[in-house]
Amino acid sequence: MITLVDTTLRDGEQSPGVSFTVKEKVEIASLLSSIGINEMEVGTPVMGGNEAQAVKEIIGMNLPSRILTWNRVLERDIEAALSCGAKALYISCPVSDIQIEKKLGKKREWVKERFSKLIPELKKEGLYVACGLEDASRANPHFVLEISSLLEGLAVDRIRFCDTVGILTPFKTFELIGFLRKYIKTPLEIHTHNDFGLATANAIAGVKGGADYVSVTVNGLGERAGNASLEETVMALERLEDIKTSVDTTRLKEVSLLVSVLSGRPVGYGKAIVGDYIFAHESGIHVDGVIKAPACYEPFPPEMVGAERHYIIGKHSGISSIIYKFKSLGITINREDAAIMLPLIRRMAEEKMPLTDSELPDLYIPTLAGQRGLFY
Ligand code: MN
Repeated sequence: MITLVDTTLRDGEQSPGVSFTVKEKVEIASLLSSIGINEMEVGTPVMGGNEAQAVKEIIGMNLPSRILTWNRVLERDIEAALSCGAKALYISCPVSDIQIEKKLGKKREWVKERFSKLIPELKKEGLYVACGLEDASRANPHFVLEISSLLEGLAVDRIRFCDTVGILTPFKTFELIGFLRKYIKTPLEIHTHNDFGLATANAIAGVKGGADYVSVTVNGLGERAGNASLEETVMALERLEDIKTSVDTTRLKEVSLLVSVLSGRPVGYGKAIVGDYIFAHESGIHVDGVIKAPACYEPFPPEMVGAERHYIIGKHSGISSIIYKFKSLGITINREDAAIMLPLIRRMAEEKMPLTDSELPDLYIPTLAGQRGLFY
């Protein structure tokens, strides 16, 4: 069993131009919890204002999910989290030399000192502590191991390995997580970004390499090209790797729609798992196959993610598709009539794609009236 950590409300909201209101955050958190997301990262308390308010309200809802907040290795970040009622905290610090030196103006030693100073106090309070190793994918792997061993010694509850700028491949991810797994017993989390379109693949590779937790966001919302998407990761784990999660996949489309509307980021027609057209069939050969047995051209049934199958009539349609489509609109036509309509439908489709359900019956009426010749 792999645990998905949804960070739509933290990393997802960091997507440029995206901002959720307190009410929207509460609504998304409730929905995520109700579909079986057991862990979520909901914000950065030190930002104060509505950000802290949303964290406070979500924690106050007492959802059955663990609610985490994002914090730097700074006392004031931790104080802000605790004053929101946080019981579970990510404590994040860069571990790559470029970020330690250029961004923070510090040395590797500083990173070790900060963790060593802060973690024992948090553990003494009985808090759940997850440590985030920012930019771990560009860090020296031996330093990542050194820090991880230090954190394990401090009894942290989880270590998050971040591919902050999305430069991993599945092969490298598998190797890096496998390397850590060999020496570290503390649960590991893989956190990936989609800069090269590999976020989901890398997340799966991290799990195969030994990670117990996976960071995801709904619709892959997140900085730059986004994060590993919740819907892709869940479906790939369950369907392709036979790894169970706690998520009710039949509600993935519903969650995707809510986040798409509230974030103002439309989901592409062809987006894996939740795109509107991924169960739409047009080409004659495919439609003919799907009508006979959907599995011919579908990797899983649409109901599994709360979607529906559509038959689109267009340039690539065949006679079977036309007969089937008209039947679904309550009109029975024979093969001869379908064959007569086919060239017209193709011609129309070339000008306007796709033909809508309301336009199709209009095409049929003239053929009934014996005006077939018109269409040749
Ligand atoms: Mn991130």
